[in-house]
Amino acid sequence: MLELKNIKKSYKTNKLVQRTLKGINLKFYKNEFVAILGPSGSGKTTLLNIIGGLDRYDEGNLIINQKNTKEFKENDWDAYRNNCVGFIFQNYNLLNHISILANVEIGMTLSGLNAKQRRKKAIEALTKVGLQKHLHKKPNQLSGGQMQRVAIARAISNNPDIILADEPTGALDSKTSVQIMNLIKKISKNKLVIMVTHNSTLANDYANRIISMKDGKIINDTNDLKEETDNQKVIKLKKTSMKFFTALHLSFNNLKTKKGRTILTSFASSIGIIGIALILSLSNGFNKQISLYEKTTLSTLPIVISSNIQSNIIPTISDETSLEYPNFDYVIPSANENNDLQNNSINNNQVNYLKKINKNYISEISYTYQMNLNFLQKINGKVNISTLNYPETINSDFINKRYDVLAGKIPTSRDEVVLEVDSKNQVSKDYLEILGFKTSNNINFNDILNRKINLVLNQNYYQKISNYFVTNQNLDSLYENQNNIILNVVGIIRLKKDYPNVSNSKIYFSQKLFDYLLDLNKNSNIVKEQEKVDYNVISGEKYDLTTIEGQRLKENVLSFLGANLIPLTIQIYPQNFESKEFIIDYLDKYNNGKTKENMILYTDEARMMSTLSNNIIDSISIVLIAFSSISLIVSCIMISIIMYISVLERTKEIGILRSLGASKKDITRVFNAETFIIGITSGVIGIFLARLFIFPTNFILYSITKLENIAILNPFHSLLLILISVILTIISGFIPAKIASKKNLVEALRTE
Ligand code: ADP
Ligand code: MG
Repeated sequence: MLELKNIKKSYKTNKLVQRTLKGINLKFYKNEFVAILGPSGSGKTTLLNIIGGLDRYDEGNLIINQKNTKEFKENDWDAYRNNCVGFIFQNYNLLNHISILANVEIGMTLSGLNAKQRRKKAIEALTKVGLQKHLHKKPNQLSGGQMQRVAIARAISNNPDIILADEPTGALDSKTSVQIMNLIKKISKNKLVIMVTHNSTLANDYANRIISMKDGKIINDTNDLKEETDNQKVIKLKKTSMKFFTALHLSFNNLKTKKGRTILTSFASSIGIIGIALILSLSNGFNKQISLYEKTTLSTLPIVISSNIQSNIIPTISDETSLEYPNFDYVIPSANENNDLQNNSINNNQVNYLKKINKNYISEISYTYQMNLNFLQKINGKVNISTLNYPETINSDFINKRYDVLAGKIPTSRDEVVLEVDSKNQVSKDYLEILGFKTSNNINFNDILNRKINLVLNQNYYQKISNYFVTNQNLDSLYENQNNIILNVVGIIRLKKDYPNVSNSKIYFSQKLFDYLLDLNKNSNIVKEQEKVDYNVISGEKYDLTTIEGQRLKENVLSFLGANLIPLTIQIYPQNFESKEFIIDYLDKYNNGKTKENMILYTDEARMMSTLSNNIIDSISIVLIAFSSISLIVSCIMISIIMYISVLERTKEIGILRSLGASKKDITRVFNAETFIIGITSGVIGIFLARLFIFPTNFILYSITKLENIAILNPFHSLLLILISVILTIISGFIPAKIASKKNLVEALRTE
């Protein structure tokens, strides 16, 4: 069934070529027990290895059951070793980290038998060699004789036609040798057994054919005339393949023998994962906080539409030294920072367009007017006058929603006003003056409540002298004028705590009051005069009405005198986060295709704030992740080294697996399985530790920010990081695994 035709084999070491087999011609038949005798170094093992497909011949031909092995590919040899040959080695070649049962099963695993059949056959084989009581022991818990029995059981478990034994008793005492030889004899029924030995007594006692070798040549063959009698069947080779699970099992058991190292390796390589996990959970948490803040608090900030008013017409008052009573210091949003805005003011078209906006999106529109209001107060019998530059309106629903009413009530009629205090219950000096207080001492709410404010009309306040108007200096009579509007402070309000504190103190008026004042002012002498002339009726400044600029300046003076209700700013408060987008779309629709001067200029401060903070957090995260990635790279290198060491350590195992029919791919798979396990372990350790570290992190963050549970590790990120860990370790172990699979089979078997 086996025929060797002029087989030659030589080894090259350095430049020296050693011809180990010098043309071997042999035929082997079924049911033979052949002993190959010869002195050490005569080439017996080499011959056996070639017959068993462990090694390749250089020249000649090996014919197995009429099959020419010249055409064999790598995986045909793998299958041949697995299906047709059982090896018994002098040094047993068992895998020490798995049980003897598992040792016997491996070959069958490679040929794809299912677990049940495997187990059954393995137990059968081990029972045949008398080891049924030791199934779950590891090889190193057995004696030499017992280990060789395991090897025999492994050799016969797959029921091969050929048993190859290389000095099977070489390491055993004579008594055990006899037992082993008897066992081999017993199992040799219906099989071809080729046994290499240098013990001629054993050969004579057991073999029915003895071949003697010397210097790579056959010098004697006791039975080379016999011809094959049984009809030969062409062998069919069943391809071998290791299931990934088997690879995992092998690697897992191997790693179990070096638990400490595995855990330390995994821990070290988990550090990068921990870092990235923590950073992700932090940035994740912060972004969540921001979007929550955006959805709740920031969405309550108004979209501000503003005119740009030249400051020489109506100056803003600011007194930065007065901290306790912050002054009235309305700042026109972003107007002066951008020169493009210089020539823009809100016009009637825009106001009308805004009036048509879907009211469902809007919680409130409040207007700040350019119309100046002049108030008279009598303090200690003396009448004073004070001017309010940018009066603002408010409606009762809006107060209900956003404000705490600290005293009094929400205004309902035209002449009722409310006073807003800031978060510290402070009011600016200017408003106190308007209310008739000349003190900066504490003022009781009750003193303010129901205060009467004397609003003097422009018609009475301005008096014409020749071409110009001057203010009426007879304040006493102005104070008593029947036409004055007496406003009543009916409530004191303060913005609720959950709204961003952007508000200063203010007096709010009703819209009805402005509508009423508009009528009166339109018909006032000063407005009528101003409409006619091309100069400022108060200051005398000339306007060139042929220019847009001149027209605009005159228009501003008219607004200032209350001849129109064109707002200085419009604040649109969105109903919620989503409706804000609709409002912005609505504004953008208006602006589409318009020139800069005609656009509605708006600022969405909330969006500016959140975009900015999101960007900051994202960039910080990226930098930190980059740093953590360095530790990932370090751990990759480390894993490469450790896997390489593992390959060196497991060279023997590689040889054994290959001799049992494992392909090169299978070997790669074993090592990939090992890195897979390390990768999973380090990923899981990393995520576990990261989750652990999140507790103190959140504790520290809480003490700083008073925000609970900021760092949250997204489960998706956890899985992703474990996956990354696995992929990176497998990549790191890939080269060592390739090195392992390329190892020469015979040399691998020889290493200790
Ligand atoms: P035996 O088993 O008869 O003692 P071997 O077949 O092991 O002899 O070796 C035969 C000769 O071939 C020896 O001289 C040995 O040094 C040489 N040899 C065997 N394998 C190799 C190898 N892989 N590389 C180089 N020389 C080898
Ligand atoms: Mg030998």
